[in-house]
Amino acid sequence: MDFQFDDEQRLWHDTVHRFMDQEVGREYTRAHDASREFPEEVFQKMAAQGWLGILIPEEQGGMNADAILYAIFCEAIGKYSLDTAACIMTSMFTANNISRHGTPEQKRTYLAAFLAGRAKFSISISEPQAGSDAAAVKTTARLEGGEWVLNGNKVWCSGAHLPGATITVLARTGTERYDGLSLILVPNTAKGLSIKKMNTIVRKSFGTTEFFMDNVRVPKGNLLGEVGKGWHYINEHLEYERLSIAASQVGNARVALDDTIRYTKDRKQFGRALASFQVLKHRMAENECELEAARLLVYSAASKIARGERAVKEVSMAKVFASEVLFKIAFNGMQALGGYAQLPEYDMERYFREAKHGMVGGGSNEIQRGIIAKEMGL
Ligand SMILES: Cc1cc2nc3c(=O)[nH]c(=O)nc-3n(C[C@H](O)[C@H](O)[C@H](O)COP(=O)(O)OP(=O)(O)OC[C@H]3O[C@@H](n4cnc5c(N)ncnc54)[C@H](O)[C@@H]3O)c2cc1C
Repeated sequence: MDFQFDDEQRLWHDTVHRFMDQEVGREYTRAHDASREFPEEVFQKMAAQGWLGILIPEEQGGMNADAILYAIFCEAIGKYSLDTAACIMTSMFTANNISRHGTPEQKRTYLAAFLAGRAKFSISISEPQAGSDAAAVKTTARLEGGEWVLNGNKVWCSGAHLPGATITVLARTGTERYDGLSLILVPNTAKGLSIKKMNTIVRKSFGTTEFFMDNVRVPKGNLLGEVGKGWHYINEHLEYERLSIAASQVGNARVALDDTIRYTKDRKQFGRALASFQVLKHRMAENECELEAARLLVYSAASKIARGERAVKEVSMAKVFASEVLFKIAFNGMQALGGYAQLPEYDMERYFREAKHGMVGGGSNEIQRGIIAKEMGL
């Protein structure tokens, strides 16, 4: 295995990191966390660069990048905030579904608008009784007079309230546990849909919502792909989703650890820099080892996907490990920054909040460990 980026990967790495430093930066990120506003300027700038279509084939207007280039991208966009990364990445999953399974009409309308920055997607799987047991979805969609009629209560749907958002709703169209689920595209302006923002301590700029559907009607053509294939389509992008989460956690962990190193070098107590105390030095050294291991797991999983191999175990290992390393680094950062860690302007409290959510979102770490064990034949 080659542990170095090649020239193309290095150039892409430098380009996206420079973009994040010059066009986004920590002040912008912090302000949007505080105001709970979507980072629209970043989304628009990424659209203008053509980066929203990173995984979309070139003939459909995308970049057709492989999983390694994608991981490099996600590592960079997560560097100041996992929330910002989620704002960019979430829509991409539905876009990929439409790219693979959408009708020509859906590609013309939804995909083109998304790539141009005029449309966003949110994904709605979770319900009050369907969390980790995601296939326990109760929301129904039935065909009536050439339209889908949807009824149900969805929770934790990030970005459903945003202007121009279309919600990709996982709904029950049959009784079979997995084959009875379909994906329906529901514009967030549809009649009968009521959306309420949830007061979460994470994803504050993206915004997470609960919504109710009371006889919401959408055209028959809003079915994504085939009836009964919804669960399979969602699972198709789970490898990429888990890879993207793990990569963005590695990016954020690097910044959190660098912030801790910088602070402990500058801050003096007892006439010495905090970084000169062995207990702090060793803690940071241990975190450096763990962060490097997490990064290698991410790029090992990405390389496997890029080679066209199945990487279910590898992406789950990367996600479990990266999320727990980020949490440890942010936790130690909170301790190392002392009282100042409690101030938003030091950013660590934001890393810490988002890191905790990272152990649950995208399939909790218990569920990931279950997947790894199953892949091990246990
Ligand atoms: C801020 C935020 C944004 C989100 N965005 C979205 C979104 O955009 N779209 C969407 O569909 N969902 C979204 N979610 C939902 C998220 O995917 C779920 O929270 C997650 O799947 C866990 O479900 P739950 O919260 O119901 O926890 P539960 O499933 O109730 O789990 C609670 C605890 O029990 C553990 N547990 C559950 N089952 C098992 C088991 N079999 N073995 C061992 N342990 C188990 C879990 O690991 C967890 O620790 C979001 C959640 C949050 C908080």
